[in-house]
Amino acid sequence: MSEHAQTCWFVPPYVQKEVVGEGRTTADDSEQLRLADDARTRRAQAIAAVGGTTGPAAGTEGERAAPPSTGTSRREVYDCESTTVQRKRLVRAEGDRETDDADSLNAYDNAGIVRSFFADRLGRESIDNRALDLVLNVHFDVEFNNAFWDGDEMTFGDGDGVIFSGFARSLDVVAHELAHGVTQFTSGLVYQGESGALNEHFSDVFGAAITQWHTGESPSEADWLIGDEIMGPDLYGEALRSMAHPGTAYDNPVLGTDPQPAHYTDRYTGSGDNGGVHINSGIPNRAFYLAATELGDTFEATRIWYHALQALPPDATFAQAAEQVATSARILVKSGAVPKGATQIVRSAWRAVGVG
Ligand SMILES: [Zn+2]
Repeated sequence: MSEHAQTCWFVPPYVQKEVVGEGRTTADDSEQLRLADDARTRRAQAIAAVGGTTGPAAGTEGERAAPPSTGTSRREVYDCESTTVQRKRLVRAEGDRETDDADSLNAYDNAGIVRSFFADRLGRESIDNRALDLVLNVHFDVEFNNAFWDGDEMTFGDGDGVIFSGFARSLDVVAHELAHGVTQFTSGLVYQGESGALNEHFSDVFGAAITQWHTGESPSEADWLIGDEIMGPDLYGEALRSMAHPGTAYDNPVLGTDPQPAHYTDRYTGSGDNGGVHINSGIPNRAFYLAATELGDTFEATRIWYHALQALPPDATFAQAAEQVATSARILVKSGAVPKGATQIVRSAWRAVGVG
């Protein structure tokens, strides 16, 4: 496992707290964290016992120029069978026939869409660009109201069916979580403070970009909502975040009010949520939305952001990200990958949210 490995949750801790307050789930965020840690430890022990490794294969002499593959980019869907054991029962591997379980089916399909986007549009071979296999665990625990990436695989709860429903069924959830893997293997943005909010931001960027690519929506047609597909019947119509209008995604007695700021002057400076990683991501999210709509093409904006992601240091600040995005735009304009004027557009998008 990478030293940058992090457990990245889809539902933020402050939302989780409200859900627990409603008495709708047995696991609060610390309990969820413990379950995920237990699962990961058990898995590491199991792998060690058979003499395997969770990390990339060691390179041999003379092969340094081309690092060896870590897999074959194949999908493996496991059913946790309502336990907290990952990789419990393999229900579908790459190319296997369809299962009739909707969560397994959708996890497989959604991961395939994410893999295609990175490969076909960005020339990236799976999450680590070394063909890492995509391991997807569904039906984790009972009525588990979350999904997470823990350094080398994805795990999805079913939701309680009231507040949240099956996480694996949502393309933006799967894309968001797998994108945490892409960030881990590129800039390795530290999951704390501004670099952590950027880490969250890049996952939302890929969540929105991949959803729009799949539906064929233009930036002006798209809803720019993250997490709208997992809202259960009680919260139908709400979402966890709005990239277009941070702070407006939800407002209800169950979850409270969306705390995301849309401008740097309103940023959260407290210690909760790893220093507001899911809160302050609203600021760069809106910059991305403004850039994509002004460019009239979400993919062009994504290409610039992806270029920047590979150049950022692990402790990047918002200001550094804004500068790097402008630099990346300039490089891509020069090579003809994005149209002239893109540099000015991304610069004014960041300025509009108070950064740079
Ligand atoms: Zn996340």
